Amino acid sequence: MRIVLNGRRGKVGSVLAPGLEAAGHMLVDSLDEAEAMVDFTTPAAVAGNVRAAVAAGVPSMVGTTGWDPEEFRDAPVSVFYAPNFAIGAVLMMRFAAEAARHLERAEIVELHHAAKLDSPSGTARLTAERIGGDVPIHSVRLPGLNAHQEVILGSAGQTLTIRHDALSREAYTPGVLLALERLPGLPPGLTVGLDALLRD
Ligand code: NAP
Repeated sequence: MRIVLNGRRGKVGSVLAPGLEAAGHMLVDSLDEAEAMVDFTTPAAVAGNVRAAVAAGVPSMVGTTGWDPEEFRDAPVSVFYAPNFAIGAVLMMRFAAEAARHLERAEIVELHHAAKLDSPSGTARLTAERIGGDVPIHSVRLPGLNAHQEVILGSAGQTLTIRHDALSREAYTPGVLLALERLPGLPPGLTVGLDALLRD
């Protein structure tokens, strides 16, 4: 696929770019020649980048967190947004939702590197939404961390902890490649979460 990668020089983008090329994709500079737009930028930049892609008739695949993609719900081309492309994190959300059906209460602790702009993380918000009800989220921002999340569930006399650690940014590449494979088959408008693509 010919791809415009916004955020190519960023922490995720600089790991993703060689991964996309190694998988046979080609990075291009202009939306005129692109078949997909991939965005790992900032909460302030992402909506403008998606609007430009929609206007050019190019499907978008967004990893940037801390923004509201609702304005693209009925976009004429597909806009795919996943707050977490790490397959282990997607499974963590699925297992947490399953466990919450059987245990009384759940709380989320999400821990990220100090430069992360949004808080709580998009993954924590989506996990809470998948669990349903009132799920407190605790955010930790410290140097030395990458991206980590624990879902702690409790009932009388027992707890269950489900934890995911993204140890390096290579964790996101397989999920991005999977989503790119599925992007041409997605309906127009907004699709949220890698979970939807892992079910088929
Ligand atoms: P980062 O290191 O700050 O990189 C952001 C990049 O975006 C920078 O290279 C910046 O370029 C570029 N940028 C800013 N405005 C832009 C614009 N208008 N058009 C094009 N590029 C622009 O951040 P990061 O750690 O890579 O994370 C990027 C985003 O991905 C964050 O929202 C983060 O939360 C999210 N993220 C998502 C996942 C996931 O699995 N979904 C995983 C990790 C991170 P300059 O430096 O030139 O300004």
